[in-house]
Amino acid sequence: MTGTIKDRVRRTLRLLGRQYRGRPVPKKKMPILDQLALSILKRGLSPRKAKCAFNRLRSEFVDWNEVRVSPLTEIEEALMGVLGRERAGKASEIKRFLTETFERQHRVAMDYLVDRDPGEVERFLGQFATLNHEDVGQVVSRCFADERTPLSQDVVRVMKRMGLAGNSYSPERAREELFGGLSRGEQAKLNFLLYQHANVVCTVKDYDCFRCVLNRNCERGRERLLEGRRKEKKMAAAKKKGGTKKKACAAPRKGAVKKKTAKKKTAKKK
Ligand code: SF4
Repeated sequence: MTGTIKDRVRRTLRLLGRQYRGRPVPKKKMPILDQLALSILKRGLSPRKAKCAFNRLRSEFVDWNEVRVSPLTEIEEALMGVLGRERAGKASEIKRFLTETFERQHRVAMDYLVDRDPGEVERFLGQFATLNHEDVGQVVSRCFADERTPLSQDVVRVMKRMGLAGNSYSPERAREELFGGLSRGEQAKLNFLLYQHANVVCTVKDYDCFRCVLNRNCERGRERLLEGRRKEKKMAAAKKKGGTKKKACAAPRKGAVKKKTAKKKTAKKK
């Protein structure tokens, strides 16, 4: 493997950045509950309208818990002048989400999630009937922008396979190895990209190193590539051998038989 760990980490960042170009990169530092409420308001509304509705709810109520316990008519009233016919639907969507949040956690707050493994956060929010895949993805991406968020077990798995972290490394130690020398923005980006990669390509089982962009920069990947090449060579050699045997056993050509017989006849005449 060429280069120091730092070189390889930078190469990984570059390769994955190219591979997952266009995917949202974590940068917002909004409280998680705010982000989810805004995400719900954005469904079917223009971003500007959704933001106005969000600001109105934030200014009319003390907090999201007050929105949860308020009657629907009150929430609709608060949205009057900002939303038109959509306000009844939006008031009910927000209230249902806040009610589910309370029922699942016995509190209306979510910032404690940034201290959790992002994989765990994704699985937890994925159970919410009132959230869709996009809402959950935004929160997961948001968690990566926070320096408190620990390295996900999925990220540590990829690092170990790549040889960027020892097998006995804890997530904290792996984080030191991976992030030493990167700026805060690069850290969030790399963490997020590795998490994506762990869920799309370098999965727990049945991961395919041959179609992975990191295979030359990864210890496991290189081993598998070499193994594949050895197998190919073996198969090619076996094929060649089979071909030679076949030739040896093949019946003599017609012309050759005729020639032999003609030679014998001439010898007899003599
Ligand atoms: S080459 Fe294989 S082991 Fe390495 S990161 Fe890619 S899929 Fe994972």
